[in-house]
Amino acid sequence: MSSLVYLSKSDFQLASDCAKKLVYKKKGYATTNDSNEYMEMLAQGGYIIGKMATFLFPEGIEIEGKTQDCIDRTNVLLKQEKVVLFEAAILSGQKLIRVDVLVKDGNHFHLIEVKAKSYNSEELSKRGNITKYIEDVAFQYNVLSEVFPESQITCSLLMPDKLKRTNINNLAGWFSIKKNEKSYSIEKECLKSKQSVKFQKPDILFKYEDSQSKNHFTELLLNEGILGYMNVTKEVIELQPEIIRKTTIFLRILNKGISSTDYQINKDCKNCEFKNPNNLKDGYYECWGDLGYTEPNIFDLYYGGSIKNKSNGFYLNDLIKEGKTSLYDIDLECLKNSNGKIGSRGIRQQIQIENTKSNTEWISPKLKNYKPIYPLYFIDFETYTGAIPFHKGMRPYELIAFQWSCHTILYPGAVPIHSEWIHTGERFPKDESFPNFEFGRSLMNQIGNEGTPFMWATHENTVLKTILEQMQIYGIKDAELELWLISMTKTKDNNGRLIDMNKLTQEYYFHPYMKGRTSIKKVLPAIWSNNPYLHLIDYFKSYVPDSFVSGVLDPYDTLTSEVVMEDWDDEIVKGGTAAMRAYYRLRFDISLNKKEKDELRFQLLQYCKLDTMAMVIIAHHWGIK
Ligand code: SF4
Repeated sequence: MSSLVYLSKSDFQLASDCAKKLVYKKKGYATTNDSNEYMEMLAQGGYIIGKMATFLFPEGIEIEGKTQDCIDRTNVLLKQEKVVLFEAAILSGQKLIRVDVLVKDGNHFHLIEVKAKSYNSEELSKRGNITKYIEDVAFQYNVLSEVFPESQITCSLLMPDKLKRTNINNLAGWFSIKKNEKSYSIEKECLKSKQSVKFQKPDILFKYEDSQSKNHFTELLLNEGILGYMNVTKEVIELQPEIIRKTTIFLRILNKGISSTDYQINKDCKNCEFKNPNNLKDGYYECWGDLGYTEPNIFDLYYGGSIKNKSNGFYLNDLIKEGKTSLYDIDLECLKNSNGKIGSRGIRQQIQIENTKSNTEWISPKLKNYKPIYPLYFIDFETYTGAIPFHKGMRPYELIAFQWSCHTILYPGAVPIHSEWIHTGERFPKDESFPNFEFGRSLMNQIGNEGTPFMWATHENTVLKTILEQMQIYGIKDAELELWLISMTKTKDNNGRLIDMNKLTQEYYFHPYMKGRTSIKKVLPAIWSNNPYLHLIDYFKSYVPDSFVSGVLDPYDTLTSEVVMEDWDDEIVKGGTAAMRAYYRLRFDISLNKKEKDELRFQLLQYCKLDTMAMVIIAHHWGIK
């Protein structure tokens, strides 16, 4: 068995972020992305797009199996004059690539990298956000051109074009994901997703694979054309000197070990995926030692990473170089703007440092004096955006609003009343229509034109604005809904009715438990853990855990399943990504039985309800009740 250590495409990407990460990856250290459901969902979307791409090349041959077998088989097949390979495995020295689609025609290769991210075919010049992808292709070009030095190579990205609208209803349902049981699927070199080393490549099933009408459906798919090419050959060739420079360093690290000058701890380590405090092999700790876990930490500071020093470098990097990693090492003078004045962000940072030191909560008098107009509506939405459109007329990554929850307080001191709406498509009568306009109408009926609707952050505003735009695109004539959406949403010329509680938090509220964060998932546990009076209020009581030992109390931990089912290892829906996955499964996972669908529906309702109850709890604590 070969003991060759490969430098794969994903190794190259990771090492380009930080060379030390390459070492940890090769040592098999776990990453936080291994259990990151968002990464996994993105990766799954990528695999479905990958499967779709294969339909563009009906003659294509899939290369699969153990890495060395794949290399050998690719070598043999590339001896043919014309051939199309999926996942071709090509080795040059220690550099190994798996090419999504490789089209060989004589002396010409077309190297195609399939990506799930969308692009705009009318704005091909805007390439800023695909720089990483181009580097990815450039590494593959480097290897392919070394193995076939006389050949001519064209490089393209194949991606969903967000201007193209599908003619197929339920297109997303044409593909399903199945766990791949084959052991070789976990070979790291095969992974598309750069960091999730434990994530296994799933099998993607095409609904009409065994149908007699398969040809008809694949033809529909070919004509569908939501995928488009972006030629990146010029950029890829320009990048070659840089690819060669980096590859030389990375191979030296793989063969001879890393030296201390190959990497440097800095402010970007904050989000290092090898930060694993609960694991014996904690890469972050190996890099930082005890300095990395100083409490409270400089990384906790609200927007700390963007503070500049006098020479326009980053202030946190200066502190790190001096071995100062405590929040209290921050000089308050450095929180001022270049004009010597302190801005709103600096004020927030000061409040954080001072109140963390004194371990006190801070509520601005402005919040105490805030008097909203009743009724109060606390609203939260669950939405879905994915590479493959669900409905006829939709484009890739178009937003679907499938659920809202609302807690209404009719007058001061009134008990909050809960209302909700959900579209899961699976109930009788089966409703596979585009849900957004019904979503909007039902919410309009709930909220009407009086009172104060609260949201957390800007998502709800964005969703309602999107529905307004979609009314024009889909030709929906509903003057009442249109006017209501305009009145609700904030635009350049109109403040709208929605009040952002996240903004209220940023300006008027801090608790040390929140550290530098203002998301509802941080604010709620801070308040819930420190105000036991709230636990006694009847309508909040169900979020008090039955038993609690120590630590931060989090109402989201009380979320549970409706029924316990054997062989059901899905996590409880406690976040937006999990909600998206649950919705996708409810719509398109044909393996789910009724009980499982009911369970997912229950969890979606329970989760969204808590999101709006969380807002009620926080508002109550602030004195808005
Ligand atoms: S902690 Fe920093 S230096 Fe260490 S691997 Fe992570 S990003 Fe690289």
